[in-house]
Amino acid sequence: MNKKQKKMLARIASATALLIAASLVHTQGMVKASVYLVIYLVIGYDILLKAGRGIVNRRLFDENFLMATATLGAFLLAVITKSGEYIEGVAVMLFYQVGELFQSYAVAKSRRNISDLMNIRPEYANLEQDGELVRVAPDEVAVGSIITVQPGERLPLDGVVIEGGGSLNTAAINGESLPRDVTVGDEVVSGCINLTGVLKIRTTKEFGESTVSKILELVENAGLRKARSETFISRFSRVYTPCVCACAVLIAVLPALIGMFFGASAQWQNWVYRGLTFLVVSCPCALVISIPLSFFAGIGGAGHEGILVKGANYLEALSKTSCVVFDKTGTLTEGKFEVSAIHHNRLSDDDLLECVALVECASSHPISLSLKKAYGKSIDRNRVTDIEEIGGLGITASVDGRRVGVGNERLMERLGIGYRPCSSVGTIIHVVIDGEYAGHIVITDVIKPNAERAVSLLKKVGVERTVILTGDAEGVARKVAEKIGVDEVHGGLFPADKVRKLEELIVAKKANEKIAFVGDGINDAPVLTRADIGIAMGAMGSDAAIEAADVVLMDDDPMKLVKAVKISAKCIKIVKQNIIFALIVKFSCLALSTVGIANMWFAVFADVGVMVIAVLNAVRALRVHSL
Ligand code: ADP
Ligand code: MG
Repeated sequence: MNKKQKKMLARIASATALLIAASLVHTQGMVKASVYLVIYLVIGYDILLKAGRGIVNRRLFDENFLMATATLGAFLLAVITKSGEYIEGVAVMLFYQVGELFQSYAVAKSRRNISDLMNIRPEYANLEQDGELVRVAPDEVAVGSIITVQPGERLPLDGVVIEGGGSLNTAAINGESLPRDVTVGDEVVSGCINLTGVLKIRTTKEFGESTVSKILELVENAGLRKARSETFISRFSRVYTPCVCACAVLIAVLPALIGMFFGASAQWQNWVYRGLTFLVVSCPCALVISIPLSFFAGIGGAGHEGILVKGANYLEALSKTSCVVFDKTGTLTEGKFEVSAIHHNRLSDDDLLECVALVECASSHPISLSLKKAYGKSIDRNRVTDIEEIGGLGITASVDGRRVGVGNERLMERLGIGYRPCSSVGTIIHVVIDGEYAGHIVITDVIKPNAERAVSLLKKVGVERTVILTGDAEGVARKVAEKIGVDEVHGGLFPADKVRKLEELIVAKKANEKIAFVGDGINDAPVLTRADIGIAMGAMGSDAAIEAADVVLMDDDPMKLVKAVKISAKCIKIVKQNIIFALIVKFSCLALSTVGIANMWFAVFADVGVMVIAVLNAVRALRVHSL
C-alpha cells in the first residue's frame, strides 16, 4: 500500500468509528445534523472537491459528480423532511470510498505484477579495466568492449561469446522455458540470465540498440494505442452519464408532478429519493477501470511469452484474424539454405562461390547469409564496389572491376541474359559475369519443424484462409505449401507485388475480419505496414521490421503465432464478459431503483461488487502460459 492509500484507509477507519459513535449517542435536531455533516465531510471532502473542479472545468458528468449529488441530495432530503435519516448519505459515501480504495490497490498491484514480468532491465555490466572487473552502467559500455557475466547475472548487452560457455535462461526474451547452451562464437542477446559458467562477451550493440532496450521500449509504448473497445467506453460514458442524470431528474420530478396534477399526494420525498438512488447506481466505474486493465494484462502476459504487442488495438484485431498471409523464406522455412549443387561452365566451384559471396558481402537476406556461410572464408570487401540490392530479384555489384549479377531468373531477364534453366529442386541462384552467363547455385531450405502444426492449429482458432506470398519461384513455394497445408500460393513476387496481392485480399474480406501478414521483415516491410496486423518473426535483429510490425514474435517458432491469437481471444473474451456483466447488473439495479425496490445501500453494494468482480476477472488476462 502506498502513502495515499494508507491515508485513505485511516480516513475510512475514523469515519466508521465516528459513525458508530454517532449512532450510539442520542442527539437531535441541528446538533444531530451537524455531527453527521462533519463525518460526511471527513469521508467525502475530496469527492466534493473533485466534483466542484469538474463543474468548473465543464467536465460535469463524471462519477464524482454523481456521488456528490446523490449523497448531498440524500442529506438535504433528511434535513428538509426532518426525518433525521442522515446516516444513509454518509454511509453511501463511505462505501464508495472503500470501493475506490480497493480499486486503486488492485490496479496498482496488478500493474506491478505485470511490470515485474517485464522487469528485465539489467542494472550493470562487468567491464574489464586494467585487469580488474568494474561495474558500470550498461549504457556506458561501448560497442566491441569485453564484458564478463557471472552465473546468476543478467546479460546487459547483445554480443558474441569469446570465452567460456554455459547455459542461458532466455525465458524473459522469448518465453522459452528450456535453457539454451552457448559456447565460444555464439551470439547472445541481452535480457537472458546466465545460469552456469562465466561468460566473456564481446558486445556488438550499444545498450540503446540491444534487445532488452527494444523490448522495454515496445512494452512501455504499448499503452498509448487504445483498442476500439476502450474508445467505445469513453464514447459510451460521454452519452451515458448525461442520460442517466436526465433520467434521475425525471424520476425525481415527473411522477410527483403528475400526482399533483391529478390531485393525489405528490410524494415528493419518495420520488426524489428514488432519483438519487438511480444516480448512485448509474456510476459506470467497473467498465471504466476493467477494460484498460484487461488489455494491459493481456499485453503483459503476451510479453512474457515472447510476443510483443504494440498496442491494445492490435490485440483486439488479432482476435478477429480470418486470414493469415505468410512470407516463405525465414518465416515458414528456416532461411538457412544449404548449397546442394553448383552448375557452371567456365569457373571452378570455388571461384563461382567466391564471386557470389563477394557480391553478397553487404546483404542480410537469409540467402545471402547462407551463401556467405557456404563460402566459409573471410571476405575482402575492398574488392567489391557499386553494390545494388534489388528486392525480390538479387544483387548486382562490381567485383575486381567486373560487373557481376547474382539472383533469380527474373534478374537474368531484367539484365537480358540467356540463362540455363535448372530442374533441380530448390532455389536457383544464377550468376552472370560481364554480361556472360556463368552458371548457377542450387540451394535448398528446410521447413520449420512446427510450421505444419501451427498452420493446422490456426484453422482451429478461427483462421479460415492461409496464403503464401513469396519472391521465390512458384514451384518451390507450392511444394512448401503442400507440405504444411497452406491453402493458397503466389510465387515470383516483387515486394510491391506482395502489397498488391495483399490489397486484393483486403478488398475481398468481410468488414469486421482482419488480415495478418507474417514475415521476417526482409524485403517485406511494406506489406507488414499495409496489413491490418503486421507480425514480424524472430526479428529482433532487423530494425525495419520492428518499426513496421505491430506484433513482434521474439523467436522464429510459428507456434508463437497460434499463441498470440489465443491470447488475444482470451483477452477479448474477458473484456466482453466484463462489459456484459456490468451492464446487466447496472440496468437491473436502475430498474429496481426506479420502481423503489432498491435503496441507496443496495445500489452502492451492487456498484462496488461489480467493480471488484470485473477487476479480478481482468487480471485473469495475465495468465496465458497454459494456452
Ligand atoms: P521471400 O518472399 O520468400 O522472403 P524474397 O522476396 O526475400 O523472398 O526474395 C525473393 C527471391 O529473390 C529469392 O528467392 C531469390 O531468388 C532472390 N533474392 C533476393 N535477395 C537475394 C540475394 N541477396 N541474393 C540472391 N538472390 C536474392
Ligand atoms: Mg523474406
